[in-house]
Amino acid sequence: MKILFYSAKTYDKKSFDPELENFPGIEIDYIDHELEPITAPLAKGYDAVCAFVSADVGAATLEIFKECGVKYVLMRCAGFNNVDTEKAKELGITVKRVPGYSPESVAELAMGLALAVNRRLYKAYNKVRENDYTLKGLRGVNFYEKTAGIIGTGKIGAAMARICRGFGMRVIAYDVYQNPALKDFVEYVTLDELLAKSDLISLHCPLMDSTYHMINLESIKKMKDGVILVNTSRGGLIDTKELIEGIRLNKFLGVGLDVYEEETGNVYQDLSDEIMAHSVTARLLAFPNVMITSHQGFYTKEALSAIAQTTLQNLKDAEAGIRNENDVA
Ligand code: NAD
Repeated sequence: MKILFYSAKTYDKKSFDPELENFPGIEIDYIDHELEPITAPLAKGYDAVCAFVSADVGAATLEIFKECGVKYVLMRCAGFNNVDTEKAKELGITVKRVPGYSPESVAELAMGLALAVNRRLYKAYNKVRENDYTLKGLRGVNFYEKTAGIIGTGKIGAAMARICRGFGMRVIAYDVYQNPALKDFVEYVTLDELLAKSDLISLHCPLMDSTYHMINLESIKKMKDGVILVNTSRGGLIDTKELIEGIRLNKFLGVGLDVYEEETGNVYQDLSDEIMAHSVTARLLAFPNVMITSHQGFYTKEALSAIAQTTLQNLKDAEAGIRNENDVA
């Protein structure tokens, strides 16, 4: 079976190639191009394609795959908001993902962002490098005995809840389902209560119609003054323009974002010589209490090898007609 692997990076090859030994009969061709309708015809002659968070797996792409004989779309990530699952089902194309590779990899980055914006580590690092040993602008708050509000307590949210408990925080959560594994130390509350009571709010629910722009000016106004907001889930959970308004209202001690609405054209590209046109991201970056990373939550050695292993197993399962929790279409 042959996989065409879109937007391949060196680290992808390094994690997938060693795993191939355990999956005889599977071959991978790696290409740099991002998956979108214009690059979809390259998949002619392949059984499967492998795609990532910024791919366009919409109806147009899937129609082309159907014509090319591609049977399987292997998402090497957890989120699948960029996949038209209804269209895939209609066309009989199986789409699988990697729902839980290493929740700690994302949760640890979420706490890293929370700490970095709280203690302004990005500023402190640069100040000391420039021989400036003053503390101006660096004052933070203790997390110990503060309240962490976790929105979405699935695999990653649960890992984040455990980390927050380790910091001596009180942990409250909002989810449409309660996670029984957390019952000993997490109190479930309404979303409004979570917004009003939390000193640190961390988003860990998927992007869906019901969660799109769940953080907007109205919800920001319900938050405590001096709250820290972290998003390592999906950019669309936050209305960026309204977040900027909230930052201007001095609502936040800090905002840490591993994902943001305009990321699609940016992620994993070196655009350092380009001028950012019409960008709300540029406006966000101008604030001293905002730190943005480029969708690197999944980027640990352990997570990458788990992603490779599950993606290849997904292809083997798909070919054997095995359906499981990894299927999204
Ligand atoms: P999960 O499916 O285990 O958990 C998601 C949780 O969100 C579930 O408990 C679900 O009930 C809850 N939820 C659903 N709708 C909700 C709503 N309206 N309000 C509140 N909660 C709701 O998923 P996970 O593995 O924990 O991943 C969470 C998200 O993290 C993914 O959807 C993905 O977008 C993101 N992610 C980001 C990175 C990264 O590199 N930054 C990596 C992996 C995943």
